[in-house]
Amino acid sequence: MTSSWSETVLVLRVGVVREADCWVRFFSPSHGLMSAFAFGGRRSRRRFGGCLDPLDQVHFAVAWDRRRRYLVLQEGSLVERFGRLKTDLHRLGQACNLVRFGERLVVAPENAPFVYGALVEALRLLDSPVTPSRLFPVLFRAHLVFGLGFAPRLDRCGRCGGPPGLYPAFSVAQGMVLCPRCAEGQRRICAQTLAVLRSLSEPLPAPWATQALAPAVREELWYVVDHFLRWHVELRATETRQG
Ligand SMILES: [Zn+2]
Repeated sequence: MTSSWSETVLVLRVGVVREADCWVRFFSPSHGLMSAFAFGGRRSRRRFGGCLDPLDQVHFAVAWDRRRRYLVLQEGSLVERFGRLKTDLHRLGQACNLVRFGERLVVAPENAPFVYGALVEALRLLDSPVTPSRLFPVLFRAHLVFGLGFAPRLDRCGRCGGPPGLYPAFSVAQGMVLCPRCAEGQRRICAQTLAVLRSLSEPLPAPWATQALAPAVREELWYVVDHFLRWHVELRATETRQG
């Protein structure tokens, strides 16, 4: 990592260190999750004029301190503020929920651009007049996890390789669909649930984020995705009291 650089990042949390100083956790499209000090960040309008708020997209100049012990934000300028969603408590709750999930995923640097892009697009959707799907938060988590290389096999039966048929099963533990012949004892899903699962790899903005679904499909998707994520995703522990 070079001694200084600048880039547009997503601010996740801001904590107060001393009277005038802040601690900022942000997601960088080149490095992933990072933390840095903003000395004078609460006072200096010239260097940080109103851009140290969670969920802001900000262009930061970042540098290591002389002994490379910690990162220092030298200045920042606001790129995008999702002002509309910040005034709507329900949408703000959804935004915090999905950003927190992104923060807790263990992301290798080569995957940081994908996670960053997905988080920003999700915030844009929540900031727009469009109504997100009721399942948007859980489907978004699956979109991230599938994009990180953990997509279940959905095109063919994972056991015999045959077509999944109209009423396949989904094996949560194995992360695959099973055709009706191989599906004995497994929970079945309908064709529309399978179609939505397949579409979750499409980048935002995508129909899966906004489409209205029948209650039975919603229930199946919720079950499959929630169990799949619990089974396969390892999350890093993060402090919950800061920020
Ligand atoms: Zn089969």
